[in-house]
Parts: sequence; C-alpha cells; structure tokens
Amino acid sequence: MEENAMRLVFDSRPENESFARVVISAFMVQLNPTLEQVADVKTAVSEAVTNAVVHGYPGGARGDITLSARLIPEENMLEVEIADAGVGIADVRQALEPFYTTQPELERSGMGFSVMETFMDGLQVASAPGKGTRVKMQKRICPPA
Ligand code: ATP
Ligand code: MG
Repeated sequence: MEENAMRLVFDSRPENESFARVVISAFMVQLNPTLEQVADVKTAVSEAVTNAVVHGYPGGARGDITLSARLIPEENMLEVEIADAGVGIADVRQALEPFYTTQPELERSGMGFSVMETFMDGLQVASAPGKGTRVKMQKRICPPA
C-alpha cells in the first residue's frame, strides 16, 4: 500500500449520495479490497453523506460537503472523512446512540451512525452547533493473502 489522498467538494444534493459512493469505491480499488469491504465503505459513506444532506443542511438548503480519503500504509488503513459546514450537532454522544433521531416524522430510524460503526473499524464525530460536522472513519484493508 502506497500513500495516497484525495479530496472532493460537492453540493448538498440527494443525488450526490450515489456520486460519493462511486467516488469512494473508485478510490479504494487500488487497495485490492474484497467486494464486501467495498460494500461496507460505500454504505458508511452513504450514511454520512445522507446525514450531511438532510440534517446538516435541512430544508434543502445548499451547502458544501467535502469527502476526503487517504491511505495510511503503515496501518493498512483507509481513512475517510465527510464534512459539512451546516447546523452541527449539540450533543454528539446522544446523536451516536442507536435509534436516536431528530426527525422521526420523516421516518428516519436513527440508525445511521450505528451502521457506520458496524461497517467500519473506527468512527469519530466532531461537531459544533452553527459550525458543522466532521465524520471520520477508518477501515482496515488487509492485503490479499
Ligand atoms: P437514519 O440514518 O436511520 O435515517 P438519522 O439520520 O436520524 O436516521 P443517524 O444517522 O444515526 O440517524 O443520526 C442521528 C442524529 O444525528 C440525526 O437525527 C441528527 O439529529 C444528527 N446528525 C447526524 N448527522 C448530522 C449532520 N451532518 N449535521 C447535523 N446533524 C446531524
Ligand atoms: Mg442518518
């Protein structure tokens, strides 16, 4: 695994959820991942981008979402970050709890962060009201035996 990094900024639109999935899969191909590993990372990125679109910029407000990724060769690790400059989260600990959602009326189940935690090897959330949210995640990609 060689060092490598990418950064992409796109509009907070629902159609960019699938765009972000394609981008992260294309970036991680160089790691020779299994199909399952690709699916896991796509799912986690998708959840984080969806959150930025629906919660970070509510009511269809337009804003920037940044997807960045880098390979950490010493750890055989892919690190992904999804950042928005939206409304932010007042209580991150509460937001991370399974089934916690601020939008039950929109039929959200509050499982997005749990999904990210399940499919990735690490998850850190940094957020401040009015400043935005950064979701950082790690996935170990072992080289094929
Ligand atoms: P689901 O993901 O199951 O559709 P959900 O999005 O409400 O439901 P989570 O993804 O776990 O559940 O997020 C929990 C809560 O954290 C959200 O309801 C929202 O209040 C807050 N949140 C998550 N991401 C952001 C973000 N980028 N900006 C602001 N608030 C966020
Ligand atoms: Mg969610």
